[in-house]
Amino acid sequence: MDGEEFRKWSRAAAEWGADYRQTLRERPVRAQTRPGEIAALIEPAAPENPQPMEAIFEDFEKIIVPGMTHWQHPRFFAYFPANAAPVSVVAEYLVSAMAAQCMLWQTSPAATELETKVIDWLRQALGLPDGFSGVIQDSASSATLSAVLTMRERALEWQGNRQGLSGQPRLRIYSTDQVHTSIDRAIWVSGIGEENLVRIATGGRWHSMKPEALEAAIEADRAAGYCPAGVIACVGGTSVGGCDDVEAIAATARKHGLYLHVDAAWAGSAMICPEFRHFWSGVEEADSIVFNPHKWLGAQFDCSVHFVRDPESLVKTLAIRPEFLKTHGHDGIVNYSEWTVPLGRRFRALKLWFLLRAHGLEGLRAMIRNHVAWSEALASRLASQPGFEIVTEPMLSLFSFRHQARDERENDAHNLRLLEAINDDGRIYLTQTRVEGKVVIRFQAGQFETRREDIDTAFEAITGIAAGL
Ligand SMILES: *Cc1c(COP(=O)(O)O)cnc(C)c1O
Repeated sequence: MDGEEFRKWSRAAAEWGADYRQTLRERPVRAQTRPGEIAALIEPAAPENPQPMEAIFEDFEKIIVPGMTHWQHPRFFAYFPANAAPVSVVAEYLVSAMAAQCMLWQTSPAATELETKVIDWLRQALGLPDGFSGVIQDSASSATLSAVLTMRERALEWQGNRQGLSGQPRLRIYSTDQVHTSIDRAIWVSGIGEENLVRIATGGRWHSMKPEALEAAIEADRAAGYCPAGVIACVGGTSVGGCDDVEAIAATARKHGLYLHVDAAWAGSAMICPEFRHFWSGVEEADSIVFNPHKWLGAQFDCSVHFVRDPESLVKTLAIRPEFLKTHGHDGIVNYSEWTVPLGRRFRALKLWFLLRAHGLEGLRAMIRNHVAWSEALASRLASQPGFEIVTEPMLSLFSFRHQARDERENDAHNLRLLEAINDDGRIYLTQTRVEGKVVIRFQAGQFETRREDIDTAFEAITGIAAGL
């Protein structure tokens, strides 16, 4: 592809993207396709000779797009959002054109310095105290893995990387059953082992870790000769928005010298609104915090911000400095690849800079406040409908509900059928989880383009389809 062709097809892609966003409302939210249908339309091997861009682009529209679930759709109410505000897409076009490798300061000084700045913008926006710095990771999973590795190295006096784990004291990490599976995986990958992830009992409206149970577990482990290393608290769990009492847990962690990591991957974005910060009060006592601007805030996927109180511990855990990476003569500068597991790094700060400037914090707050208010309104409307039960009340914009089957023993199957029928209908997209073993349907509002009418459509789709089952 020569320069002129590149210009032509970049324009075509931009045009396509704008048309796509404008016509999203008319498309079914979830891909209406069966497994294998798309694969069957793709050649079994790569072509030997070049093919014309016209044909490639046409196939993209014909084969790929109909097999997509539309995450930017205004009536995407499933999982959690993965917003890509148009302005962050524009930033990504630019990043993509430059295709820089931002591993060291000198491999892209602007990327490094902007990253430091936007992280500090976000620190202030979230109401975190001075003293937290951070790094942009690809995902919350990577940030949590880095945090768990830091817990491990800190507890082993920085000997884990060197000596391996055999012959070391048995490490223990504490969390609840409300945390995301990325925590389990971090425990596996770090070599700590699932049996050493201690699930502390929960209670109360937000399924919070019981601080006295945490205290007892740490003491019992110490008595048994284990080595407690850290605690992972959750603010806004993936299932139904579970929230630990960070303040109480931080006090226990501190008392025992344990590292505290807070996973607020989804809910963190809402903390730009001061009135929601009670959900993570005490967070300023954490050693690290992760939140994903690529979820609710609107930064094109991927973009996960990992705040740390003490970057030295993280760098001591992860940095390798071979001769060829040394940035001679530039002492005191930041090389963000020393803060993450991967060496190579995309330029992720640009889309945050564009996003925060184009919308302003007030614009983003207004969006999040709307989502929370609309979700609460939908929950109370559904609660007043015969046969509907709100199982977990809204935590920010996430709640769960269930529809009563004629025979109560059929409830699980009935709600799965209802969910399937809703998603086949295509107007909205929802997902399920389990609460106390029972199937419930989750609802969250978090899309950039969602309007109040879309919530009305959700109400009509849910109640209408349930009535027809
Ligand atoms: C989404 C989510 C994660 C995982 O995020 P990735 O960026 O996909 O790794 C972890 N924890 C919580 C609470 C989440 O909502």
